[in-house]
Amino acid sequence: MKKVEWGGQELSQQAIDRRAVTQTRFRPQAKYSWAAGQAISRLLEELQAGRLIGRRCRRCQRTLFPPRMFCEECYRPTDEWVYLKDTGTIETYSVSYLDRDARRITDPIFVGVVSVDGASPGMGMMHYFGEVTKESIHIGMKVRAVWKPPQDRTGSVLDIRYWKPLKEGGP
Ligand SMILES: [Zn+2]
Repeated sequence: MKKVEWGGQELSQQAIDRRAVTQTRFRPQAKYSWAAGQAISRLLEELQAGRLIGRRCRRCQRTLFPPRMFCEECYRPTDEWVYLKDTGTIETYSVSYLDRDARRITDPIFVGVVSVDGASPGMGMMHYFGEVTKESIHIGMKVRAVWKPPQDRTGSVLDIRYWKPLKEGGP
């Protein structure tokens, strides 16, 4: 049987405009918090102190960076903390003409992954590269962290301002 008439009353725009319809407006008070966990908490503390730290797994002999309390290859807890150098190698990079807020910019920013010296191959972090040009930056370039002054550090990956070439003008 086909229904040709519906019960109730259709809302009209007029009824909505003159507020004959019950309405409510609210702004969600969404608040989030999460624990960084043991390994990342220590990493952030060390960043504030101007140091990089990883975790060593004695079974597979790897040094994990960023540090992890559990070795995903050995299925066992990692064993010890190890300080790493604040030098590394560019693994990959992008030349971006968009800033962090996706606005177009004239002078590009350089972002990518740096593998940190002393960590196992391929272990690194996403970061900015500075004091480079489109022409000079390349995969395999040796770089060094440029730290913020101690009083400006907050326990963040951005306590490193960017990574710059280890050698001026060289590879
Ligand atoms: Zn392991």
